[in-house]
Amino acid sequence: MTDASCDDAHVRRLLMMVATGLNRLREQHPWLDGLPRVWQMLGRGYWLTVASVSRGIRAAYTKELLDGALTTLLNNSSRTMVQAGRAELSCDMIGDAIDAGLDVDGHVLIGAAERGCEAALNQWHLSLSQWPAWHTQLSYVLPVMVLRAIGVKERPEALEVLRWVFNTAISKRAEVQLPQVLLTLLAFKCARYGHFDTFCWLYTEGRRLAQQDITVTVSEADLKAFKDEVLAPFRAARTDELSFIKVLRTDGTARTLCTLMDSAIWFGQEEFVAALSRIQWLQNEMGADWPHDGAAHIVRKGKDVDARGVVRMVSDLACPWGPWTSAECALLRTRPQHRSAVPPQSAQHWMQQLHALGCPCGCSPADDA
Ligand SMILES: [Zn+2]
Repeated sequence: MTDASCDDAHVRRLLMMVATGLNRLREQHPWLDGLPRVWQMLGRGYWLTVASVSRGIRAAYTKELLDGALTTLLNNSSRTMVQAGRAELSCDMIGDAIDAGLDVDGHVLIGAAERGCEAALNQWHLSLSQWPAWHTQLSYVLPVMVLRAIGVKERPEALEVLRWVFNTAISKRAEVQLPQVLLTLLAFKCARYGHFDTFCWLYTEGRRLAQQDITVTVSEADLKAFKDEVLAPFRAARTDELSFIKVLRTDGTARTLCTLMDSAIWFGQEEFVAALSRIQWLQNEMGADWPHDGAAHIVRKGKDVDARGVVRMVSDLACPWGPWTSAECALLRTRPQHRSAVPPQSAQHWMQQLHALGCPCGCSPADDA
């Protein structure tokens, strides 16, 4: 359909209204139960929408579809299964669907991981464990699950998904080993999306459970295998999320584009930057040290860094100024001051503080008067 007013969401909303109306009718006139003609007209493609209306409607719709010799409620493309995993289904509903013959594979777990719902992970996993082909999917589904769990800012559930995946991988150690580049990529995703708690867990518990280190140096062959098996088929990470990797070429040379600190700065994760700078054990190892050109570099790279942020980095966190000039001060004056819990909020106040700290610029005192 080309008409924009008839898009998929629109159709689903209409369908929801119809199904809700039918549900009311069914409550008032129990003898209408079944409504076979309606269900047959709908077909199996709308199971998720219709089934979410009520348990009675779900049972009637499911029964009609199965009676029509359709043993698969959803078409079993991998995309549809990810959607099924992403949908907010109760454990009861998942159980009903499986009992009614819903045909699923590991892709439902990817959807449930994106939503960060541990109960759904357990429920889907329980149903998959009866299914022999699941074991062959383990090695790529588990890495994709964690990568897709960390994709937006402020999602504490991501940590639950990481715990779940690492513990599942441990329990299946004979069948699956998490790829080493996965741990490093997760660390960089944490920096990008500002998940510091998840990063700390990864650095302590994650490394211990996987019995692997986080390292930026990866062999060309390992990286290719990871791209072919995990990243490309599932779009589990963007190409620019790999720019930290130091690929070890066959001639022994290696090159990297950005460090963990660069990544946190680039994506404006001020808290992550501050936290990283305090972690001594990460310095030099992962590039968690302040960048070579210090605060001057950070202000030029991080478009969200304001005057208060610089004052904090330089005074509390011992970040060097680097080649700081009046040009950096001028850049800060053009930026809005972030709201913070600590007053005062004015940009002028923080510029004065910056100069009081001994900023090596050549500004005249009149500039911030
Ligand atoms: Zn200045």
